[in-house]
Amino acid sequence: MKISWTGTVLPASVAAVLLILLVGLFLLLGIPADRPAHEAGPCPWMDTSRTPDERAGLLVSAMSLEEKLGELYGRGMGPDAHDAANAIPGIPGLCLPELVLADAGAGVGDGIQGATAFPVGIAQAATWDPELQQRVGAAIGTEAWLRGINIQLAPAVNIVRNPLEGRGFEYPGEDPYLAGQTAAAIVRGIQSRHVVATVKHLAVNDQETDRMTNSSDVDERTLQEIHLPAFEAAVKAGAGAVMCGYNRVNGVFACQNKDLITGYLKDRLGFTGWAMSDWDSTFSTVTAADAGLDQEMALKTGQRFGAELKAAVLSGQVPESRVNDMVNRLMRSLFSVGAFDHPAAEPAPLTPPATPPEHRALAAQAAAAGTVLLKNTDGVLPLSPKIRSIAVIGQPAGEAGAQHAYHGGGSSRVPMRGDNPLVISPFQGLKERAARDGITVTYTDGAELPQAAAAARAADIAVVVAAGSSNEGVDRPSLALDNASCALFGPCSPARTSPDRVIAAAAAANPHTVVVLQSGGPVSMPWLDDVQGVLENWFPGQEDGNALAAVLFGDVDPGGRLPVTFPRSLAESPITSEAQWPGVQVPGDPVGTHSEYTEGLLVGYRWYDAKGVKPLFPFGFGLSYTRFAYSGLTVEATPDGARVGMTVSNVGSRKGTEVAQLYVGAPAETAEPPRQLKGFRKVELEPGASTHLVIDLEARAFQQWSELQHHWVTGSGTYTIQAGGSSTSLPLSATLRK
Ligand code: BGC
Repeated sequence: MKISWTGTVLPASVAAVLLILLVGLFLLLGIPADRPAHEAGPCPWMDTSRTPDERAGLLVSAMSLEEKLGELYGRGMGPDAHDAANAIPGIPGLCLPELVLADAGAGVGDGIQGATAFPVGIAQAATWDPELQQRVGAAIGTEAWLRGINIQLAPAVNIVRNPLEGRGFEYPGEDPYLAGQTAAAIVRGIQSRHVVATVKHLAVNDQETDRMTNSSDVDERTLQEIHLPAFEAAVKAGAGAVMCGYNRVNGVFACQNKDLITGYLKDRLGFTGWAMSDWDSTFSTVTAADAGLDQEMALKTGQRFGAELKAAVLSGQVPESRVNDMVNRLMRSLFSVGAFDHPAAEPAPLTPPATPPEHRALAAQAAAAGTVLLKNTDGVLPLSPKIRSIAVIGQPAGEAGAQHAYHGGGSSRVPMRGDNPLVISPFQGLKERAARDGITVTYTDGAELPQAAAAARAADIAVVVAAGSSNEGVDRPSLALDNASCALFGPCSPARTSPDRVIAAAAAANPHTVVVLQSGGPVSMPWLDDVQGVLENWFPGQEDGNALAAVLFGDVDPGGRLPVTFPRSLAESPITSEAQWPGVQVPGDPVGTHSEYTEGLLVGYRWYDAKGVKPLFPFGFGLSYTRFAYSGLTVEATPDGARVGMTVSNVGSRKGTEVAQLYVGAPAETAEPPRQLKGFRKVELEPGASTHLVIDLEARAFQQWSELQHHWVTGSGTYTIQAGGSSTSLPLSATLRK
């Protein structure tokens, strides 16, 4: 094969070396190289001095009906999609690039080789660090761009309402404000690399049981206050696309739900991008087009928006003006992120190099920053320099187990094969780090309990790594650990022995036992009183063992705080009735079940606070290796919201990170939950150091959704503003009248 490079014909080997060098240079700089902007030439819309709106308008008016319709459906998964999730051919005569869409929020996935597996969505949220999240988003955008992808199917922003939610690991937790901040940061990151971000799945797509038919039945106020704000934040951050989900919302399929797509997204939020369907969630043509759906995506080539849409346009059922609007929205977003001016690499000939070192370092940093220290009796962590031996125990800690437990299952999984370096297992990461201090590390998978006990007994400290699986397509059966994390379409490696029993055996044999949990959401901990330390490090991505070693040895402070409440039991969680989950049949509806969101606003910590139920670990919680004190809270009204000041001091003896959290309690007459997160700031402080924080609370922090007026209102009365290190540790309090 010969490759032509600006007119000169090069042998393929030389061209390949050049390509790799070029790609290496891009990666080194951490940014996609900007190709020179196209000359306007035969495509006047390539004139970069025009606005995205003008450019989209010019392009659409130059397109034939056939060309326009061709942009409205994906041609399906498979080789034509370059191993990504879908593609639409380019039109060179119109300077219109091929569109290639790929999953998802923890890195470039599907069948694509060599991308970095970052920590999953819930772990990203657990960092409470938008600046870091934006860098992760940008790294994902860069890797997408280098692989020819110009539309990334992330971030997923649904609210985790049910601790058993199968896709909870992809989502940014139970709080709308934290979820919104996380989503906005990821959107900014991805789109800074000329790749469109796709916010998904509109809306209330938060259960996997009967996911293609179930209806989420939710009242208007709960929808607006809990389930939609993360979409709003992502749209305000400039997201170019929104994906509607499989589920129904109040009886109407999301992708033909006019209230949601046109009423909420386009009219209320002023979203100027396009609404794309989830894969096979377009269930009609005329109805969906009228509801506001702009593009169909499916596993095979699009049906409803392929031949059927053409027929509907030709017969006048769907006006051509609507088609123009669909294409306009798509093109406007592509122009906005620079997808025309900085086209993604050619997908076919480019075999990208393996995961770049700086992205691996970022993956490790993000994993450690999202790791939550839940228990640390007698300062068992960080590991004492006096320790001479560590027994690492548990299936996910070993080479084979780690290849499963680094990620949840389903479309978001970043595959680890081909030329991609394998996941660094906890055993490998700990062994390499421990060698620096002359510490011996042993490994046993714990399949035989006596073996686990013997290994624990023989070492100064036992570190048991235990996983709980989470998969797209299926909700978790219980809160119990199971070590069976596996891809929906890939191999599983279920535990031979229950992880709870392995932990109990190790704890009985060694009082210095530390448990590392790798799960996509809350898990039960029947052994909690018997172990000295517990860390939750979610599905940490490929740098698993390196990040874990850095935290255990105290090279970095465990930076994470819980983005979801850990309940003591399911019976004590907000979701207890079958009607709430997994849903019940409703007379007269043959389509499927209905899940009734009768908990209303009381999702997550809002419910535990309102009911006075003490969870196992509260929202926002996480220990540092040092201690922090809060003082000097000031609150002053601003024209919109309020300006809050406070001082955070490191009163311990080590450098560490803290997440200062602000919760607002509304006047009783508003019937809001007791307190709600409305601001936060992550800080890193040297021992003895203090910092003065100023956090602005926006108008929305003092607003409630009025079902009478169908918009936000500021309920008058006295608001309480509380500050501290978790939703249940709020030492500072002040009031403000509105
Ligand atoms: C998932 C989406 C994903 C799509 C493409 C669907 O099953 O729900 O989140 O982006 O597949 O892989």
